[in-house]
Amino acid sequence: MPIAQPTIETLDSLLPAEPLLMMGAGPVPIPARVAHANSIVINHLGDTMARIIGQVQSMARYVFQTASPWIIGVAGPGSAAMEMSITNLVWPGTKVLSVCNGYFSSRFAEMARRVGGDVEVLDVPLGEVVDLAQLEAALARVRPTVLTVAHGETSSTTFNHHLADIARLARAAGCLVVADAVCTLSTTPLLMDEWDVDAVVTGGQKGLSSIPGVSLIALSQRAWERIESRPSAPPHWCLDAKLAAQFWHHASYHYTAPVSGILALHEALHLICQETLERRFARHAGCSTAMQRAIEAMGLTLYGRPDSRLHSVIGIEVPAGIDRKEICSHISRRYRVEISGSFGLDIVRIGQMGEQCRAHHLFRTLHAFGSTMRDLGAQVDLPAGAAELERSLQRVGYDAA
Ligand SMILES: *Cc1c(COP(=O)(O)O)cnc(C)c1O
Repeated sequence: MPIAQPTIETLDSLLPAEPLLMMGAGPVPIPARVAHANSIVINHLGDTMARIIGQVQSMARYVFQTASPWIIGVAGPGSAAMEMSITNLVWPGTKVLSVCNGYFSSRFAEMARRVGGDVEVLDVPLGEVVDLAQLEAALARVRPTVLTVAHGETSSTTFNHHLADIARLARAAGCLVVADAVCTLSTTPLLMDEWDVDAVVTGGQKGLSSIPGVSLIALSQRAWERIESRPSAPPHWCLDAKLAAQFWHHASYHYTAPVSGILALHEALHLICQETLERRFARHAGCSTAMQRAIEAMGLTLYGRPDSRLHSVIGIEVPAGIDRKEICSHISRRYRVEISGSFGLDIVRIGQMGEQCRAHHLFRTLHAFGSTMRDLGAQVDLPAGAAELERSLQRVGYDAA
């Protein structure tokens, strides 16, 4: 029986006529330069690509704040970059301590188990950051070779703000530090070399405001030496860092690189360099603080302690009697704004990463969110929220451009 040709709807008929404003926990809107670069295909080997790769690496060194030569791209989601760090640094019997305070940090632990790591989880209650005395005790007890931690735990909107201290304790215990910076890189300071972090991973579609599917990893010299010392090759051929270095360091073939996505990443990194990290961090801090104050002025409650809230995603508690799934579908259908629910917690999440973090997007999102809550029967004071957003943005001197 031959398979008949399927009936296909055109993309134009499937996609909304007016694009949704993507204000969830990723993917985020991309700048026009990134979108344009993503439409170009060039030879994945050869001089032009080699020069572009060189520029991606030097811009990434600035964004990761590292002098390490070991910047490698990954054709895959942020999770593939996480897996690349794990599959290269962990092998059967490697002792791993995973600091887990949510969905993504627990994913590191699962990945380490799957490559045979001897994984101990340091469970931190949701919404809280690890207690340093407890961490020190766990390091002394477990004596791990690798510690994993999420700098920003997007799932619970929790900011592990003392990554520098975590890394210091781990280094003192002779342990390599692997940090997930998918939602924090370029939104809040992360000093890879100064803090002595050995592997930092990020995806494209969050803090960097690039496309999903092309990710980056930065490895310290110490991490590279451990990879060189592996007793056998890592189990995942595509994620083998030494093979990937063929392309990222010697302009030769590993697998066909996602050229369009790398060009998009080049543009996203170039925009960050032009903005400068200082200004970008200030934009995220200013916008996030303003949005948080506005949500509270509207009469709603933010999730988490003020000092452990991310500047890249904010969590809002769902008032009693309202269904969080209904909030997300209503705001999308009625106001053309996309926000995120959560994994388990009764919160909704509004993203503030890269292009999301612009005053005009914040006003539209606050209006859409406040109106949605009112439509669903919550008591909210939307004018008070909008006034607070304006006042807070003026106070930090943030201009909408
Ligand atoms: C989104 C996210 C990931 C996973 O990224 P994917 O591209 O979905 O694989 C990992 N860690 C954190 C902190 C994230 O926010």
